[in-house]
Amino acid sequence: MWILKTNSHMTHEELWRNALQEIELATTKANFITWFKQTAIADLRDGIITLSVPNGFAREWLKSKYHKSILRAIRNLNNDIKDVEYVIGKYQPPEESRRRPSAEKRYAPEPGVVIPDEEFSLRDLSVDPDTNLNPRYVFETFIVGSFNELAHAAGQSIVKNPGTTYNPLFIYGGVGLGKTHLIQAIGNEMMKQNPTRKVRYVPAERFMGEIVEALKNQEMSRLKEKYRSVDMLIMDDIQFIARTEKMQEEFFHIFNALYERNKQILISSDRPPKSIPTLEERLRSRFEGGMIADIGQPDRETRMTILKAKADQKGIVIPEEALWYIADSIKTNVRELEGALNRIVISAKLTNSPITIEETKRILTYISQEPRRFTSVKKVLKAVAEFYDVEEKALTNHSRKKEVVKPRQIAMYLLREEMKSSFPFIGEKLGKKDHTTVIHACKKITNELKNNPMIENELQMIKEKIYEV
Ligand code: ADP
Ligand code: MG
Repeated sequence: MWILKTNSHMTHEELWRNALQEIELATTKANFITWFKQTAIADLRDGIITLSVPNGFAREWLKSKYHKSILRAIRNLNNDIKDVEYVIGKYQPPEESRRRPSAEKRYAPEPGVVIPDEEFSLRDLSVDPDTNLNPRYVFETFIVGSFNELAHAAGQSIVKNPGTTYNPLFIYGGVGLGKTHLIQAIGNEMMKQNPTRKVRYVPAERFMGEIVEALKNQEMSRLKEKYRSVDMLIMDDIQFIARTEKMQEEFFHIFNALYERNKQILISSDRPPKSIPTLEERLRSRFEGGMIADIGQPDRETRMTILKAKADQKGIVIPEEALWYIADSIKTNVRELEGALNRIVISAKLTNSPITIEETKRILTYISQEPRRFTSVKKVLKAVAEFYDVEEKALTNHSRKKEVVKPRQIAMYLLREEMKSSFPFIGEKLGKKDHTTVIHACKKITNELKNNPMIENELQMIKEKIYEV
């Protein structure tokens, strides 16, 4: 506990630390961490405080959104303060906290504590190079309810009788409802029960990239062979291939080759075949000739079951009441359900306190108040360029200057993660780069995120900007 001194004998550090305590009470945890860590009083002269902040973004943000609260908090402690100015400065941890490392933890998360998103940090981890399947997607962790039971049952059935009963099996449903999880679980189960069978999972976009690559290097026949030799082909998000005739044609040939030999084909899409306008008739009729199963939205009980299971998997205790609160607040998307749970867990870890219903409500209110997320390529490029202080043009031309390499990779990453753009599209927008360059960039940032918590903060700040209205 700090003793609150209400006079002007406080050191700058004490003054700011006490002010931060007050500010913290009035902000959400996420905002507090994002905007107030690495801030310090750099100077106090003639009643004017100069606050040093880590970058231009933080400066603008604090000035426009928090100036009043900051001033109020400081004036409560020292009435002589007239104003606060903001400068970008290098952050020096306060003297005291250097001696007493625990003090700083109050507003700077320990490296590694802030996990942006469980799914995210685990993604791509230990993907099997032969099957391209991620071992984390299994039936054991897939919750079944009326919203997905048909798709689930059909999936189990094709593991038992691949290539015969339901071929192709076409599973469709909205974003974040478990398509990828389910089709990968089917693949993983198939491998478990028949280790000698060849299973290949491929997102349609990656498939398209491979084709482009193969055409360029005259390796088409090898690529075709690779796909024709599998026992089960799993293609995720097939709606993407409907964008070009060439891709549909290549896929059509592979499809036929597999189908004729009774090999199982498993497809996911964000909508049914008849609702993909550019899907060729011959593919549509093939798809409709098999089994089509949809995944709907989970009902309240199922949402609760999912939350309980996810909390169990993390080994954390959350009051039932809080779980119901989440289940009642987020209705349409399992990924968001999981995301909300993660945010609550992270916040509890940061404050090192048990999860309560009050805290849960506060975080969910914060999440629901986040503006509807719309952005554009233009906004992303602008925000990235501003943030790293490079010219926007430099991101989209062929400049190899060292200082644009990282911003460009960040831009690619954001276009991918936030706008779900395809790799070729991103490459095109960022100076006609090859899609493999984009894939490499996204992987690189994903990896860095695991090791360097600062990147997460940078991304957070850029994201705030790209969704600004
Ligand atoms: P989609 O491919 O439909 O966009 P995903 O399969 O990526 O959705 O699912 C999003 C997240 O929600 C994943 O982390 C996944 O594990 C989880 N998830 C989705 N459905 C379920 C379910 N029925 N049971 C457990 N977890 C699920
Ligand atoms: Mg998916």
